[in-house]
Amino acid sequence: MISLLWRILRTGNLTEPLPRIEPGEREQHAEGEGEIDRLNDEILAILGRALTIREVDAGSCNGCELEIHALNNAYYNLEGRGIKFVASPRHADMLLVTGPVTKNMENALRIAYDCTPDPKLVVAVGDCGCGCGEVGQLFNENYATCGPVENVVAVDVRVPGCPPTPIALMEGILAAVKRR
Ligand code: SF4
Repeated sequence: MISLLWRILRTGNLTEPLPRIEPGEREQHAEGEGEIDRLNDEILAILGRALTIREVDAGSCNGCELEIHALNNAYYNLEGRGIKFVASPRHADMLLVTGPVTKNMENALRIAYDCTPDPKLVVAVGDCGCGCGEVGQLFNENYATCGPVENVVAVDVRVPGCPPTPIALMEGILAAVKRR
């Protein structure tokens, strides 16, 4: 125990100091937070209850997933507002699908879609999932992929970008729930 304490004292703090936030940046942060609050409130005002989302990676490079993961951090605070990601499509109101849909994932995506209770919403995420932009064209239908998400299941809203930002994703989610 004493040797452990001695080691802790000797090692010191190895984490980096927090970056300094300049006054201009602070205002930018505040603006971003205001926009996030507005989007969250609007989504829940329309739904009047929680929204559950099942994310399906149908063949992305994981860049889109990193932005989707960011939605779950404390800054965007989706779960704190009642919008949460679930493990099963049976518990989901919405599928958030990144693509392009590989041949290996085609069947899994169809099954996830069929398992999601009606009225379900599908949001295609990223240029690959929407079939637009340079990467969307690159990964269009070929021997290994079925192309954009809409080639496999019906899509309600497209969120382009490579990858789209968390705010763009929230806008896409809001656009989808407005269609209900
Ligand atoms: S849109 Fe960009 S980030 Fe998203 S899966 Fe395609 S290449 Fe990756």
